[in-house]
Amino acid sequence: MKKDLRRDTLLVRAGLMRSPHQETSEAMYLNSGYVYDSAEDAASAFAGEADRYVYSRYGNPTVTMFQDRLAALEGAEACLATGTGMAAVFAALASQLNAGDRVVASRALFGACYAILKDILPRWGVITEFVDGTDLGAWERALATPAKVVFFESPSNPMLDIVDIRAVSEMAHAAGATVMIDNVFATPMSQHPLQLGADVVIYSATKHIDGQGRVMGGAVLASEEFISERMLKFYRQTGPTITPFNAWVMLKSLETLGLRVDRQASNAARLANWLEGHGIVSNVRYPGLASHPQHDLAMRQMENGGTLLAFTLHGDQATAFSVLNSLQLIDISNNLGDSKTLACHPASTTHSSVDASDRDEMNIGAASIRLSVGLEDVDDLIDDLAQALEQTMR
Ligand SMILES: *Cc1c(COP(=O)(O)O)cnc(C)c1O
Repeated sequence: MKKDLRRDTLLVRAGLMRSPHQETSEAMYLNSGYVYDSAEDAASAFAGEADRYVYSRYGNPTVTMFQDRLAALEGAEACLATGTGMAAVFAALASQLNAGDRVVASRALFGACYAILKDILPRWGVITEFVDGTDLGAWERALATPAKVVFFESPSNPMLDIVDIRAVSEMAHAAGATVMIDNVFATPMSQHPLQLGADVVIYSATKHIDGQGRVMGGAVLASEEFISERMLKFYRQTGPTITPFNAWVMLKSLETLGLRVDRQASNAARLANWLEGHGIVSNVRYPGLASHPQHDLAMRQMENGGTLLAFTLHGDQATAFSVLNSLQLIDISNNLGDSKTLACHPASTTHSSVDASDRDEMNIGAASIRLSVGLEDVDDLIDDLAQALEQTMR
């Protein structure tokens, strides 16, 4: 394929590998195994002498098409797709870390990422120091000591904190660390961490990449050296691979990712502006709003404000629950990135396993609501929120 194709073309065409049947749409190869013409062929495949598929835990043509399309979009040399976003996070970390290694991470993380670093990896002697990701001084102090991995999200889930990717990557590299970023909230359409100095980009493809609430998946994108020398053996032997069916759904979803994220982001910007003017709302967090504490940084490293926002109400948990329970169109769900607008109460759901004191440090209030903005007509979304806020104020 032509090398310098533009992004919207890559979303539809990159990675396409037609079979001899010349199908238009990408084929779904639902097979676990492969056959060999001879015992010698099998032996040479296992000796790594032949470039071919041997078993779908290792690789599958549909999975390859998804990986190649996503890598082209991200501008990454290589990609490994996984069964879930958390499998991607865990494989990227566990394939690098040895007992005694040190990780520095921002505290504002998705609950499961936080649990891996806080509770699971310490069982193997890997210790994480958590910092306020928005505070460059805190990164500088933590990275005065050598570290193996630096891990963060930007924007973070759920309060949309922004980490300065370029500045933190420079400090991390000076400390000897590999920089891994969970880019789920920004999506590959809005933020390009590899161009800003990060080494590894991780996605939950379950979110915007599928974006229609159907299947789970994840991906790790990095240099060819990182993927093949540092991660491939772990990936092949421990089995976090994605099923070919889910990879096919993701591959086809990438075709519309740009259209969906554009519309979802413009809907989110409209909603954020509208919410900011509402009397019962004490605070709106949306990177595209001038009132966001890191608005300028966000606009330097993102192409738009994203598809998610968080708002905090004057009141308590009962106030937030009343708003959620009064919604008639928007669904209550902890998923995100979907074409349907979804609202959740992070303190009692996605972040309920985080210690209350850490939750406070992440600014997740009892009256905070996270909104993942979908593809509906934005005026219907405003009408629904307006009536729910109205009910609650009564
Ligand atoms: C959902 C999510 C994950 C985990 O992805 P799964 O596909 O649910 O395993 C990781 N990071 C962030 C920021 C997420 O929102």
